[in-house]
Amino acid sequence: MAAQVMDGKAFAAQIRVQVAEHVARVQEQDHIVPGLAVVLVGEDPASQVYVRSKGKQTLEVGMNSFEHKLDADTSQIDLLALIGKLNADPSVHGILVQLPLPNHLDEDLVINSIAPEKDVDGFHISNVGLLGTGQKSMVPCTPLGCLMMMRAHHGSLSGLNAVVIGRSNIVGKPMAQLLLGESCTVTIAHSRTKDLQDVVARADIVVAAVGRAQMVPGDWIKPGATVVDVGINRIEKPEGGTRLVGDVDYDSCAAVAGAITPVPGGVGPMTIACLLANTLTACCRSNGIDEPQGLTA
Ligand code: NAD
Repeated sequence: MAAQVMDGKAFAAQIRVQVAEHVARVQEQDHIVPGLAVVLVGEDPASQVYVRSKGKQTLEVGMNSFEHKLDADTSQIDLLALIGKLNADPSVHGILVQLPLPNHLDEDLVINSIAPEKDVDGFHISNVGLLGTGQKSMVPCTPLGCLMMMRAHHGSLSGLNAVVIGRSNIVGKPMAQLLLGESCTVTIAHSRTKDLQDVVARADIVVAAVGRAQMVPGDWIKPGATVVDVGINRIEKPEGGTRLVGDVDYDSCAAVAGAITPVPGGVGPMTIACLLANTLTACCRSNGIDEPQGLTA
């Protein structure tokens, strides 16, 4: 039987509606407009596209969007000064510094200078520590989006064998923490993992976050497993031009899996929807008002 397609585009649209309704309520009852500040350093084309899309969607759900575009040679001191200002600005509830930063800037230092309660990417060491100890935190957007789709499909994830391929700080590790929080038995696989096929074959849930086009074939997948594909890779089409594919070979995996996310239209749209949800959550927490339900871990 063909896998159920987990439609991230449709799911993300539902989240945006829920966020927009809550934003309207907060504005009417509490006279607060949630605000997201996005900082972009340099002119990386992919980052520019992401930032534009984030700004547009922020406005569409009724929140304020503050974009700060800095030259590629901006000094660390100037960047930290801007973050300091945004930390102190009561109209800014979420701060996102678009990664990657130019090489002369210290990414860890910059991220850890964001006030943890405004860290809507969930990358600050305080939020990493809170998530790791099962406490309320800001949760990184991409793994949060993956978790929401898995919860919607499975209901309870308790006791399932989950394999996360990739151990990055922004996807793999927080994804593994979230699945552990759902009482999955979690394996993290990475570039040094031996016999990845064997590891993946035991999984009820496979999350692929590697950045290698179509590296997971369908014959690795346990029949009926849930496959969540985080990868975004551009490949050449035989007829010319390029197209986006994930880290799993979609057609062969979809033939075996119980459920699968497509690329594009799976995890990608959920990431920005979760950023909006995190900004609203941050706003509600900082003002002591009701948080939206079901939009965090
Ligand atoms: P990363 O490069 O930081 O990490 C990749 C991980 O893959 C590493 O931990 C590495 O150990 C592992 N890896 C590399 N080769 C491997 C192999 N042969 N076998 C097993 N593991 C291997 O990447 P990232 O930032 O975590 O992103 C991963 C992918 O997800 C990329 O394609 C990225 O574009 C995509 N991504 C998508 C979204 C989204 O919104 N959809 C968000 C973030 C990242």
